This record gives sequence, structure tokens and C-alpha cells, in this order.
Amino acid sequence: MGIPLASESRLASVRDRVPTVATLCSHSSLQIFHGARVEGFPTLGICVGPPPKFYDAFPLGRPDRFLSVPKVKDLPDAVDRLRAEGAILVPHGSFVEYVGAETFSSLDVPVFGNRAVLGWESDRRKEREWLDSAGVSMPKRFEDPSEVDGPVIVKYYGAKGGKGFFLAKNREALEDFTPTGPHVIQEYVLGTRYYIHFFYSPLVDRGYRVGHGSLELLGMDRRDEANIDELYKLGAQEELLKAGIRPTFVVTGNVPVVLRESLLPRAFDVGARIIERSIELFGGMVGPFCVEGIMTEELEFKVFEISTRIVAGTNLFISGSPYADLVAPGLSMGRRIAQEIRRGRAEGRLAEILS
Ligand code: AMP
Repeated sequence: MGIPLASESRLASVRDRVPTVATLCSHSSLQIFHGARVEGFPTLGICVGPPPKFYDAFPLGRPDRFLSVPKVKDLPDAVDRLRAEGAILVPHGSFVEYVGAETFSSLDVPVFGNRAVLGWESDRRKEREWLDSAGVSMPKRFEDPSEVDGPVIVKYYGAKGGKGFFLAKNREALEDFTPTGPHVIQEYVLGTRYYIHFFYSPLVDRGYRVGHGSLELLGMDRRDEANIDELYKLGAQEELLKAGIRPTFVVTGNVPVVLRESLLPRAFDVGARIIERSIELFGGMVGPFCVEGIMTEELEFKVFEISTRIVAGTNLFISGSPYADLVAPGLSMGRRIAQEIRRGRAEGRLAEILS
């Protein structure tokens, strides 16, 4: 048996019934509802105001029922209704961001995965402490501009879609830099970005073993980022700045990628280290997570971020991916979540996967 994450009282609303898979209608919700339906669970879409009309265009992804709230921030007022529905909340990037990590953590409704991870992910310093102490290679970090010894990226905390991130080619280019808020100065890593979609199951005792469970690789994507991805076509940065164009990293979409097969052991090693350390620090991260990094020409993988829940890049792979196809046919991340809930119920181990 693994580590219990949820108390008996928290689980009372899903104990002796088929639970309802619930999430906020946004981000990867169509995939989550679709996967839950395929695995035989009822689904509930939380929406602000009337249900989104475009859901009508996707009958296999549309939830069975909707729960409408006036504002996302009003979700705590709907806790009794969610418990009455036997809801299990599946967090995704927009869900946690709109509700707020702290409020989300305090909701007295069963959540898929370990909600303790939210406090580690939402604070860049704590996240770094976690990854550093896991032995994961990360971009160098500079406490002061005078230490800078190469190209850097300046990241503001909570910058939506990397808006306002600042690139400097060298120390001199930072001389006139006056920060507008809390930020970090990080080595700008030259290489190719990969966003690796993992799933960690504490219940499965075969496959790629990590802790008491198993680490699965279900997909990989790269994000399209406006306007940085096409900026190079316009030439040097100084000239762009003169024209008033600053690079931004606002995500506009995702493209599928695969990694050279010889690099897969490295990807698994990074995923395993992150999980092992999470078990020591806060009882373990459960379910989907995404390791976001840059492969350099020396084939070193430097991780600049992790997302500790389902990422929108998994929407590419609703009917499988080049990796998921080698695990099971037609396996999406949304479906994998539902399978884990099914197994947790069947084995009486929901406390290990819900919190
Ligand atoms: P983040 O907010 O940390 O996810 O960063 C947003 C985007 O900035 C990423 O998707 C990358 O394109 C880019 N980025 C972040 N950190 C680095 C880095 N250290 N070196 C190069 N590019 C980075």
C-alpha cells in the first residue's frame, strides 16, 4: 500500500457510489470528459454562466451535465452541490489558475492527485528547490545582473503566457534594466524545446517502476509561442526593439513531437527523479505532469518548468500518441485519469490517488 493522501471524511462523498468526473469547461476539459465517458463515468462540466455553445459541436466530449457558477471564484459556494453530485475534481492549468491555487487547495471536495503539489508548483523558488534537490539539470540562475555571463531570460512571476519576459544577449544589455516586479534572471538555453507528458501511478506495480508505482510516458509536444517563434525572420533584436517589437511567449497552440529514441532514457530519468523527490517532500505527485525543457546540442536536457497536472498539449493525443500507442490502444491522458479512478475504486485505494 502507498501513501494515503485523502482522509476518510474527504472521501465520504464518493465512497459507495459511481463518482462523477468534474472539471472546469476550459483547457483540456473535452478530453477529460471524453476519457471519463469511455471508462463509464458520468461527467459534470463547471461553467461560468450558460454552457459554452461550441461544446454542442463535440458530442463525445460534451459533459452529461453542467453546473453553472456566476464567477469561477464563486466555486467555494458550490462545494455542497459538488459533494452531492459525488464529484471528483480533475485539475487542469486554467482551473487552478482561475480559482487560485490557495482556494483550490482548500475546497472540501475530492481532487484527483495530490493537492499539496499546488503549493510547490505555484512558487517558482519552491519549484526550483524541488527540482534542484532531485538532481535535475536546470538553467543557471543569477541573483544579480552583475553575475550574468551569457544570454539570459528575465521572467516575471505570474506573467501570463510569458508576456513581458525580457531577453538580454549579455551583461551589457542588462545595464539599463529596471525590473517592474518580482522576477528571476535565468540562463537563456539554446536548443530545442520539448514538453514531455508523463503519468505517475502509485497503484500500478509493473512497467517503469518508480517508488511503489509506475511512470508512464504518454506524449510529447512543443508549444507554438507568439511572437517569439517567428521573430527571428525579422532579424536582430536591437533592430526589433528600435521598431518597438519585444519578444513574447504567449502560447497559441501545440504541435506534436517525438524525441530521438536514444534520448528516452534521459527523459525517464528526469521524470523518475522528480517523482521520487516529490514522495520525500510532500507524499508524492500523482497522475499527469509535464516536464518542460530544452535539449541542447550537447544533448543535455535542461528543465525550465514543470506543470503538475494535465497540460493542454495532451489535447493532440485524444486517440493516442506515438508513445501512448505502445502502452494501450486509444489511450489519452484524460482516459488514463479515469482508468486510475476506476482502479482505485476496484482496489479500495482511492485514498492514494485522491486528496
Ligand atoms: P515559462 O513561463 O517558464 O514556462 O516560460 C515560457 C517560455 O519561455 C517557454 O515556453 C520557453 O519558450 C521560454 N523559456 C523559459 N525559460 C527559458 C530558458 N531558460 N531558456 C530559453 N527559453 C526559455
